[in-house]
Amino acid sequence: MSFGLKLRSADPIIRTGGNSQSSSSVFPSPLLVTNLLSNDEVILDGIAASPGIAHGPAFVYLRGDLEVPSYELKEDGVEAEITRFEEALLETRREISEIRDKVASSLGEGEARIFDAHLLVLEDCALIDEVISAIRTTNRNVEHCFEKVSRRYITFFKSMEDEYLKERVADIEDVSRRLLQTLIGHSKLDLSQLSADGIIVSEDLTPSDTAGLDRRQLKGFITDAGGKTSHTVIMARSLRIPAVVGLHDATQRIKEGEYILIDGYEGTVFVNPSEERLYQYGKLADKRRKLEEIYGESLSGPSTTSDGKTINLMANIEGVEDLERALAMQADGVGLYRTEALFLRGQKYPDEATQYEEYSRVVAMAAGQTVIIRTLDVGGDKTIGDESVQEDNSFMGFRGIRFCLGNPEIFKTQLRAILRASVHGNVKIMYPMISGLAELRKANEILNSVKEELCSEGIGFDSSIDVGAMVEVPSTAMIIDLVAAECDFLSIGTNDLIQYLLAVDRLNDRVADLYQPAHPAVIRTLKTIIEGGIAAGKPVSLCGEIAGDAIFTSLLIGMGASSLSFTPSLMPEVKYFLQRIDTNRAKVLVAEILKMKETSQILQYLKEFKKETLGDLI
Ligand code: PEP
Ligand code: MG
Repeated sequence: MSFGLKLRSADPIIRTGGNSQSSSSVFPSPLLVTNLLSNDEVILDGIAASPGIAHGPAFVYLRGDLEVPSYELKEDGVEAEITRFEEALLETRREISEIRDKVASSLGEGEARIFDAHLLVLEDCALIDEVISAIRTTNRNVEHCFEKVSRRYITFFKSMEDEYLKERVADIEDVSRRLLQTLIGHSKLDLSQLSADGIIVSEDLTPSDTAGLDRRQLKGFITDAGGKTSHTVIMARSLRIPAVVGLHDATQRIKEGEYILIDGYEGTVFVNPSEERLYQYGKLADKRRKLEEIYGESLSGPSTTSDGKTINLMANIEGVEDLERALAMQADGVGLYRTEALFLRGQKYPDEATQYEEYSRVVAMAAGQTVIIRTLDVGGDKTIGDESVQEDNSFMGFRGIRFCLGNPEIFKTQLRAILRASVHGNVKIMYPMISGLAELRKANEILNSVKEELCSEGIGFDSSIDVGAMVEVPSTAMIIDLVAAECDFLSIGTNDLIQYLLAVDRLNDRVADLYQPAHPAVIRTLKTIIEGGIAAGKPVSLCGEIAGDAIFTSLLIGMGASSLSFTPSLMPEVKYFLQRIDTNRAKVLVAEILKMKETSQILQYLKEFKKETLGDLI
């Protein structure tokens, strides 16, 4: 077990060709580049976690073992030792509360909640009592006793199969490290105190490490561990700090002070980048910045094609904070409100009042714009602390609507909360993972029973609320006429649809190259679904990741999608592109693409089309 973080060197050496150069966010000019060494470039591939390009000297930030002292207490020393423990608890709580407030004011309450979990660890009576009792029975110092007790907790949680509980290990480790540092009197390494800007290379970064990040100083980070959904990565995205994770052994391969270049768009890290590489990325970064400015100008304009067809550009959100960002990006409402986040927080199954409050806030804030609330899509990678949801083949198991139909009380509670919130604005309900008519009908039966219940209780709701199905299971695509006939709208979840259609686990990086949104089978299936919806007179939206990928925009418009829903930060680029698409041209594009047999050919064609549409811009 290791606690504590160790910075290898306080004063990083920047890789130069004999010259030293202060790190700057500006890429070297061709002239400067010639002064830099250009040999020994090593390329590391990881997961693109937070977009952006950055370069600078590496700060290798390692978790080292804290030397935990162990000694016998003097006679009558027990009470003083317990007081020392209580003071350290208070001090650590104060520190964490400060970090919490800092995060809450810069990133919002949602991001700050993780620190509430940390505070709970420090308030855990069982843990505190065990440490006090260990001090009394062993007559040894508090550091020794605390480390032993917390280690036992960590081992216990680590041994659990439950992913949610495993995640709590990081909280306990983080808090235990802080408390031990306070007891031992070690200064805590605060990343915000770094004197020069650089790129952090770490095994992993805990939420309290990243809370100290100062955007003006830190250009980016890379980690050995992690996936796209870790707390740290979520924060990096909100702070717009480029990041690459899942590099496995970057801390072994990169030395303190070595110059690195990270490409957060592609998930690539260049160690000792060559002159050409730096120059090429310098140009790319400049271009990106200029492009973002230009794209941003589209936001105040309408969500229409060049020939005047309106396509709603909506936001995928997980809560109020995301909605704030979405509104700032002029989103045309919420196309997918993922409600799982509420279930993944402290309370395992939030009660009706908690859900009602949360949904109502979102709906009211949307001020009359559509909010499509998706019912609980637990399972797959979205595990909650419930053993019945832990499965070997979880993506094809008891997830989404299957879980809700199998747990009608949980489902009903959510439906009641959504229906009650519907009086505050324009709400629609959407079921995830529908694989056939029976599920859709069963879900609607439960919805109707909840409506009747509310009526008999005299509680108001939108009685003509629209109900839609996500199309993300291939079986539903095959019977789209039947499903569309019994829904008010359809929304294609390409993230799952692609994984089921191509039999490629969307989380498994060993088969990541086979996860191909431009596969001809995906293209044909999308067309079948959209045409099926249109034939039934029902609008079809897209809310998977490809909805926010501008190279697919014209294809989806050409097929007839009525709205696209995606992460708000992508709004400027998609909107800019949309305003330049002509629907007739997009239809021709679809016809051309449908003739193609190879994914690579389709991708190339889509890229060329975008390039042509944007002219000189890219
Ligand atoms: C999808 O599958 O495309 C989707 C939007 O849902 P999620 O990513 O939440 O599974
Ligand atoms: Mg899905």
